[in-house]
Amino acid sequence: MKRIFWAALVVLAIPMAAAHASCEDDDLWICKLKPYEPNPHQVKTDNTSPECDGAAPHGQAKKIQDAYDTIPISFSKLRFDLCRVKHIFITPATTHSWGRYNDPSVHPTDNPDQSYIAITTSDLNRHFASKQDDHLSQLSPSGVSGLFHAGFGSNSKNVKFGLLFALAHELGHIKWHQQYPLTGNQPGIPCYDSVFGSSWQNTSAAKTNRWTEFGANNLGSHPGIADPNNASSDQLYSLYNSGFATALAAANPEEDFVEAYALGVVNASCSGCLFSINSASGTTTLSGRSPVDAKIACVAANYF
Ligand SMILES: [Zn+2]
Repeated sequence: MKRIFWAALVVLAIPMAAAHASCEDDDLWICKLKPYEPNPHQVKTDNTSPECDGAAPHGQAKKIQDAYDTIPISFSKLRFDLCRVKHIFITPATTHSWGRYNDPSVHPTDNPDQSYIAITTSDLNRHFASKQDDHLSQLSPSGVSGLFHAGFGSNSKNVKFGLLFALAHELGHIKWHQQYPLTGNQPGIPCYDSVFGSSWQNTSAAKTNRWTEFGANNLGSHPGIADPNNASSDQLYSLYNSGFATALAAANPEEDFVEAYALGVVNASCSGCLFSINSASGTTTLSGRSPVDAKIACVAANYF
């Protein structure tokens, strides 16, 4: 009896060890960021990569680990992709978290094909609804009065899921740029054009763009539907009922993909959670919206 038990335990232990080997055993998978400006419009970043400035404080690294551990085991592609990010940096120095893929055409001699994520210290400690409210006020400071996100369920206020949203959002940007590299053949995102394309008049500018600032609105348009930047409260709210995962998703075709990716991850990982956007004109849940669910299904089929 005893021998059978140990044999079963060994069999179970092997896949666990393999799944953890690529990132969680690396002391510098999560680290402090050496001062680095990632925006190629501000400094020349060709052939330069962000670097670690030593290990992150244990408490901060554990928050990233805890967020990672909420991802369902069945989402093996997503877990693998996040593990494969060379470093997840923690930095107090920037206003936004960022993600970055080293496109080989501009990083031929510097870690080509590697990817990096930098998470701000404030994103370590913010729950999902608060993070969404923050995005709205950055998109339209004058349009947010009376608008707020809410979370139902005991997990919904856990900062793990706000952090998971930030990690998944940046990983979504990395996936986009891997599939739409600057030069050569673009593998593309299967089902993107058929599922997301109808939200946009044209998606080609977004597929050849190098660096996408928060809220960038010069990469695609949707006549008849508002741009979230400086939108009114009613316009912001209506974006959530117009086929976009969030208001930020309506800024450009890349964010449309990225926000569907990140919301899909959080909705699946935060068990018992239900999130909503609320305004004077009504309440809309961030799940059970059929055009958005189709976008999330497209992302999930390929990347979760
Ligand atoms: Zn983004």
